[in-house]
Parts: sequence; structure tokens; C-alpha cells
Amino acid sequence: MDNTSQQKIVDEAREFADREIRPFAAQFEANEAVPRELIDKMAQRGYLAATFPAEYDGLGLDPIYYGLLTEEIGKADASTRGLLTVHTSLAGEALARWGNKEQKEKWLRPMAQGKKLACFALTEPEVGTDAKNVKTSYRKEGNKYIINGAKKWITFGNIADLFLTVTTGEKGITAFIIEREMPGVKTTPIKGLLAGKASHIAEIQFENVEVPAENIVGKEGSGFTYIVNTALDHGRYSIAWAGIAIAQEALEAMITYSRQRSQFGKKLHTHQLIQGIIGDAVTKVHAGRALCLRAGQLRKNNDSNAVIETTIAKYFTSKIAMEVAVDAVQVHGGNGCYNKYPVERLFREAKILEIIEGTSQVQQEIISSYGLRAYFKPPAKK
Ligand SMILES: Cc1cc2nc3c(=O)[nH]c(=O)nc-3n(C[C@H](O)[C@H](O)[C@H](O)COP(=O)(O)OP(=O)(O)OC[C@H]3O[C@@H](n4cnc5c(N)ncnc54)[C@H](O)[C@@H]3O)c2cc1C
Repeated sequence: MDNTSQQKIVDEAREFADREIRPFAAQFEANEAVPRELIDKMAQRGYLAATFPAEYDGLGLDPIYYGLLTEEIGKADASTRGLLTVHTSLAGEALARWGNKEQKEKWLRPMAQGKKLACFALTEPEVGTDAKNVKTSYRKEGNKYIINGAKKWITFGNIADLFLTVTTGEKGITAFIIEREMPGVKTTPIKGLLAGKASHIAEIQFENVEVPAENIVGKEGSGFTYIVNTALDHGRYSIAWAGIAIAQEALEAMITYSRQRSQFGKKLHTHQLIQGIIGDAVTKVHAGRALCLRAGQLRKNNDSNAVIETTIAKYFTSKIAMEVAVDAVQVHGGNGCYNKYPVERLFREAKILEIIEGTSQVQQEIISSYGLRAYFKPPAKK
């Protein structure tokens, strides 16, 4: 698809988000649910399959335009954007990359149409960052596999039909598609969250769930190297744009407010200390956007540096989303602490981005080990 057609999809997504999402974001939070009707509308427009190939009813957007689309949805509501992150990026992209033809036929097209919603189940009550140590187990019995264990914090897990689930067993880490209707699957919504309140986040129990061999994605034992790494790489790319979305939305809110509100007989934006805050926020957003676009371009080119540049973009934009959102609250004064103003929600949503798809500490470790290799200049031998 040419760039003009892709840009048109992004422009339409902006109008869709302005009309169908942003005005209701606070209501979704209060109801603790992104409504099913909205998910269906997004599916009809192809957003749930934005990157899938056309043969599976996808829009076939390239990584840059997918990033821009993620931004438009994420600016309007982080909980709704969460569906793109888990369904399209984490589960969908991993399946598109590593699923066999039968698996794609069976799941990718229904996922594109929104008939099957998918999520990514890695984290457990006792295992987060140390993800290679998952305890959810598989055991082979004849041609079937028996799954036992629990997953926690699974975005859209309470309504998803398919769980791309990371398990461990005889041959090592293995990823399965577990289907909601399989006996022994139970989901429980997690309430009382700081943010992501409308993202149907759940804990999932698997009790002697029988899964056929054809539900293994990739090879038995290769689940971490291939499936988890692919899923998290796509998830990080999505979160990089989610960070820009929050930072951009907070920046716009801060500027608009500063031009409307007066103190000491003049508009807030004319006070030099407020100008300092705004100047920093504009710079951070531009820098973050440049990193996202660079990561997108490298991904589009299948460049081997795409993974590390995506990690850097995710680390940076989640950090500046938090900083810009904090500053947007500051510029709003008391109103920034009030849920009638969107910056109050942006401030809470930004924090989550520093935790999901690998915490900031994990990103720092990865980036640091890359830097130690890339920028080591051995001293010249005497
Ligand atoms: C809103 C939300 C949605 C989520 N959605 C999903 C989902 O869809 N699917 C899914 O599988 N998971 C999901 N998660 C889980 C998320 O990925 C984990 O919370 C995250 O990976 C961190 O794991 P943890 O919470 O167990 O923290 P821990 O691993 O216990 O870490 C606690 C702290 O210790 C730090 N730490 C840990 N190890 C080290 C180390 N070696 N060096 C330095 N610091 C370290 C961490 O950075 C963190 O600051 C979600 C979480 C939230 C909050």
C-alpha cells in the first residue's frame, strides 16, 4: 500500500478516536470496561489487524503507519490502545511470524474480524521480570498437553477468547494457544488498578487444561527464543508509540490550559517558569517521536538494529510520557488533580508504561549491555 493510502487510514483513525473514544474515555474507566461495541467498530475498520497481511483480512500497514495509528488510539484512551498492544502486536504479530498455515487460517482471520480476541499471558503471580522462570507447566500425554498454573495482569484477559500462553515443561519454554472454552480455564477480573482500568485485566487459572499438539506455536521448547522475544519486541514497539501518545496528549492539554488560564493578570504561558516547562515538554516529545520513527523505519527495512532501537524508543518514551504528564498536571494546578481534566488520567496511565513489556530497569540493562559492546574503544596497543 502506498504512503498516501496508509496516511488516509491514520487520518480516519484520528477522526474515529475523536468521535468514538476520547469523549468516553473517563466513562470507560468508571465502568472499568472498554465496551464491546467499540471493539467491534475497531474490528470493522480493520484496526485489530492493522499490520496483518491482506490475505488474513489485515490492513497491511507498515510499522511506521501502524505506530501512528497506535498513537491516535492511545492519545484518546490508553485502555483502548491496550487492545492493539496485546491483540494485534503481542499475540497477532507472534502468530503471524511463527504460526503455521493452519494456525493462521484458524485464528488470524477471526482475530482480524474481531470474532476472536487474543491476549498474551506471560506474567504470573510469583514471576514477572524473571520471565524465563515461569511456573505454568505443560505435560505431554499422548497427543495432548496438560497445562497447569496461573497468569496475572493479563490485559484483555477477562474477555479474550485466545490466550497465547507461555509455559514450561520437559523440553523447556513452550507457547500454546489456549482457548477460553477449554475445560479448566478460569479468568478473574483484577479491580482497583492505578490505570488500565478499562482494559479487562485478569488473572487466569489453568487447571488440567487439555490442549491439542496443534495449538503449540513454534516448536516445543523454543517458546522463549522465538515466541516470547518476538511478542515482546512487537509489544515494546507498541508501547513506544503509546508513550508518545500520552506525552503528546499531555503536551497539548498543558499548552491549551496555559493559554486559557490567567494568574497575576496574565496568561500562564507568559510566565517564564511555565515557558521552561513547555519548552522541555516540546523537546522531549520531538525527541521521543524521532526515536519511534527511526525504530519504525528500521523495522520496515528488517534491519538487525530494529530490536535495540525499539527498546531504546520504549524506554525513552515511557520515561518522557511520565515526565510530561507530571508537568501537565503541574501546569493545571489543582485542576490537574481532578478527574474532570484528562491530565489526571494521563498521569496515572503514563506510570504503567514504565512497567509493562519489561520494566525500565530491564530496558536499561539491555541498552547498557548493547552500549558496552557498541561503544567500546579498545585502547591502542603501545
Ligand atoms: C496494567 C498492567 C498490564 C499488564 N499486562 C500484561 C499482559 O497483558 N501480559 C503479561 O504477561 N503481563 C502483563 N503485565 C505484567 C507486567 O509485564 C509485569 O508487571 C512486569 O513485567 C514486571 O513484573 P512484576 O510486576 O512481577 O515486577 P517484579 O519483576 O517483581 O519487579 C519489581 C521491581 O523490581 C525490579 N527488578 C526486577 N528484577 C530486577 C533486576 N534484575 N535488576 C533490577 N531491577 C529489577 C523491576 O524493574 C521492578 O521495578 C501487566 C502489568 C500491568 C501493571
